[in-house]
Amino acid sequence: MTGSPHEHPFDVPLPFDLRPRAEKAVRDLQLRQFVGSATRGKDRGRRDGFREVFGDRSEGVRTLAGAIKQHTLDHLDWYLERFIEAAGGAGVHVHFAQDGAQANAICLEIARRQGCRLCVKSKSMVTEETELLPALLAAGIETIETDLGEFILQLDHDAPSHIVTPMIHKDRAAVGRAFARELGVPYTDDPARLTAIAREHLREKYRRADLGVSGANFLVAETGSIVICTNEGNGRFCTSAPRVHVAFAGIEKLIPGPEHLGVMLKVLARSSTAQPLTCYTHCITGPRRADEHDGPDEVHLILLDNGRTEILREETRELLRCIRCGACLNACPVYRRIGGHSYGAVYSGPIGAAITPLLKGVHNFPDLPKATSLCGACFEACPVKIDLPRQFIALRRRMVEQRVTGAWERAVFRLWGWSLRSAWRYRLVSGVQRVVLRWLGRGMGPNDAGPSTRRWVSRIPGVLKGWTGERDFPAPASRSFRQWWEGEGRSER
Ligand code: SF4
Repeated sequence: MTGSPHEHPFDVPLPFDLRPRAEKAVRDLQLRQFVGSATRGKDRGRRDGFREVFGDRSEGVRTLAGAIKQHTLDHLDWYLERFIEAAGGAGVHVHFAQDGAQANAICLEIARRQGCRLCVKSKSMVTEETELLPALLAAGIETIETDLGEFILQLDHDAPSHIVTPMIHKDRAAVGRAFARELGVPYTDDPARLTAIAREHLREKYRRADLGVSGANFLVAETGSIVICTNEGNGRFCTSAPRVHVAFAGIEKLIPGPEHLGVMLKVLARSSTAQPLTCYTHCITGPRRADEHDGPDEVHLILLDNGRTEILREETRELLRCIRCGACLNACPVYRRIGGHSYGAVYSGPIGAAITPLLKGVHNFPDLPKATSLCGACFEACPVKIDLPRQFIALRRRMVEQRVTGAWERAVFRLWGWSLRSAWRYRLVSGVQRVVLRWLGRGMGPNDAGPSTRRWVSRIPGVLKGWTGERDFPAPASRSFRQWWEGEGRSER
């Protein structure tokens, strides 16, 4: 098993065009069914879990979790210093990386110095961001993803499409085919048998591995601890069996102290998998002590910036509160229909649509802030109360200021803005709109005889064709609400 060192599904031409990917995904009924049913189930589980455990304190718990993260970000320099001091005192080597390439280079240098040849890796979105797996493979270090979902994706040369459930877009038959092809085992789609095959394969790797790589869910400033939450126990194997452990973390992962960890662990588990707590919560505070049986000889932590200090500016700082729980993806009507790969970057769904343009430039990902209905479902789901709709609007404003939006779009919005400045202009533009749309919808449905009958427009030409690309558009009624109100509406009341 080698992975795919030369191809990465998120190596997209820039500026990234979301439409072809989204159109393909929308037509893929199987994908829509997998992603739709899984996300709906998770969203329901999260809401029930919050209600059962926190009851009418749910809002207060979300406010508290958001405040803990916001406070840490507001004083990030202070907490970083405290963390480095405590972690250094516990024997952790702390490194800083400006970008992904530098983070990977630090990891490779540690591996080279220690003569590491086999790496076991637990699930980490930051290492997806730095593209660590291809870097390790290219350096000749055999590397195995040990989270079951990530392991399957590595076998299938695929990429994660969800922050928490990386293979949400696949079914067990696809897993069976990948196992048969890459591991040479007889085909089966029995989940228990597939899990047993993976376990057998991975145990042998854990036994021989000399390098373990992980992410970090939280960094506790007061104690210098690296906290990892997993449900499969693989994180614990990766960080305690090999003699060298390298953890990757964004600088935003800090929280002040252990008492805050209790709150964050509860909201993370309930929001991501609807559990009271994840099965394994692993607090690593330094390498193995002399009187301890298990653990690595060396622990390294690579703190990654990669654009985060830019996001730390006041207007966008709240985005760094994100604990990568995936709840906004599960709640989002857009993500449910187009899946994660359509976003063209590691972070998908609402949080991805907000941070990818900030991490990689709005001119490179101009479609993402528009890939939202602004319905607010993401804000309601977010356990740290990130106001994502507000961030999308701010990003759109930034795109207009930087003239990233196209000439047609600017013209349409200018006309709309003009029409909203007085009543007669509004009446004029909406009247023209009604006539044109009713003309386009002629022959589609009955003539208006009342408010319940409707014409449909099957094709709008030109720059607005996207409105009818996938479904018919309802034509307006023959009379506007104002006309109806000024006629019989007022007297009916
Ligand atoms: S933005 Fe909120 S809901 Fe979305 S992944 Fe981050 S913490 Fe979870």
